[in-house]
Amino acid sequence: MNIVILGAPGSGKGTQSELLANKLNLFYFQTGELARELAKKDKRIREIVDSGRLIPKEEMTMYALDNLKESKSNYKDILFEGFPRFISQYEALEKFLLLKGDDIDAVISLDISQEGAVRRLSSRRVCEECGEVYNLLTNPPKEPDKCDKCGGRLFHREDDKPESIRVRFIDFQENTKKLIDYLEKQGKLIRVNAERPIDEIFQEILQKLGINNE
Ligand SMILES: [Zn+2]
Repeated sequence: MNIVILGAPGSGKGTQSELLANKLNLFYFQTGELARELAKKDKRIREIVDSGRLIPKEEMTMYALDNLKESKSNYKDILFEGFPRFISQYEALEKFLLLKGDDIDAVISLDISQEGAVRRLSSRRVCEECGEVYNLLTNPPKEPDKCDKCGGRLFHREDDKPESIRVRFIDFQENTKKLIDYLEKQGKLIRVNAERPIDEIFQEILQKLGINNE
């Protein structure tokens, strides 16, 4: 089974992707990680990634498909997060999978309002030392500003501040929303309200995928 997860910044994509990949035993294909790998080898990509921008879409398609060619022999079922995010990328992935007699089985859209995204990301804190992620509302540390795991200091990422969130949100709306509308017309889209507790969202995803959770 191949699944694509779409959602604005703050929609909880990463969390739900991890839960779903574990539950269904899918390979978690994450462009964030791929971009960081590429950035280590290429200064130009490092500048793009460091500035919080996206790698140009045609270029990203090439990197993503190359990476899949390498790993596809090991992984049959994949969960895609961060790619595809444009119609052209979706079509390229579909074509790639079809050549192997495979398909995209479901696309899940985690819906969140701009206010909801701001609320969630404004309360996100990251450990300086180990990178553990907390949320002051839904997953607070035991002691304020201190990591439960390593005792490191927690900080508020620059791009999780309201002004940056608005910019990232508008960027999402202008791009990924076109893909969402396109998939909705094809009847391929599963919409889930992401402004709820993590477990409720996850249960609804499983239910809408027709997966028995016992
Ligand atoms: Zn830590």
